[in-house]
Amino acid sequence: MAKRRPLILGNWKMHGTGSDLAEVERIDAAVQALGVEAGLMLPATLIERAARRARAVAIGGQDCHAAAQGAHTGGVSAAMLRESGATMVLAGHSETRAGDASSVAAKAHAAQAAGLAVVICVGECERSADARALVAAQLRASLPPGLDRSRAAIAYEPVWCIGGSAVPDAAHLARIFEMLRGEAGEARLLYGGAVDGGNAAELLALPGIDGLLVGRASRSADDFVPVLEAAA
Ligand code: PEP
Repeated sequence: MAKRRPLILGNWKMHGTGSDLAEVERIDAAVQALGVEAGLMLPATLIERAARRARAVAIGGQDCHAAAQGAHTGGVSAAMLRESGATMVLAGHSETRAGDASSVAAKAHAAQAAGLAVVICVGECERSADARALVAAQLRASLPPGLDRSRAAIAYEPVWCIGGSAVPDAAHLARIFEMLRGEAGEARLLYGGAVDGGNAAELLALPGIDGLLVGRASRSADDFVPVLEAAA
């Protein structure tokens, strides 16, 4: 299958205050200059200010509540993110996943109902010979009925790679992405976990990988631009 235009997403996690909006502007300028498709998943407190500054990079949230509103102290609904200027949101990142995968499906449904594109995250917790079957089961349970796959991406993030330095070998990724392609329909498939400017091009060249979800290396333009360049 022909390679699709890569999608490069950064996840700032619980990093960033107003002084970091200058980095959003630098990243935005690079996205514009390189003509790549990219997004930054920011802390909710930065979304509105970042969205006002961003011309080319999409701004997204890192999680949303499955309910539209209610007695959920600390919760942020998909509609609240949308109103703040977000156009996308992660669902089921391993650092927010709680309960079973049906809660991820409920969040993904709520996100699309509010007009957001959704990035559903899956990944096994530790190295396992059964990773393909584990991730397949997790994904099936995380996809809500009626998901609009043209506004969805699936991010495969092996939890044992997030925050570390190792990425899975090409044979492992080939097994997983072949399975994901069969399950995901037209949804784009991203890889996440220890991505940086040094390995981005190699990962993007692997069959089935349509883009990257980047944590640490997305927080500054100095680190993120080389990843964007790999997609240009
Ligand atoms: C992540 O948490 O989504 C992630 C991929 O982190 P890192 O790139 O820092 O491993």
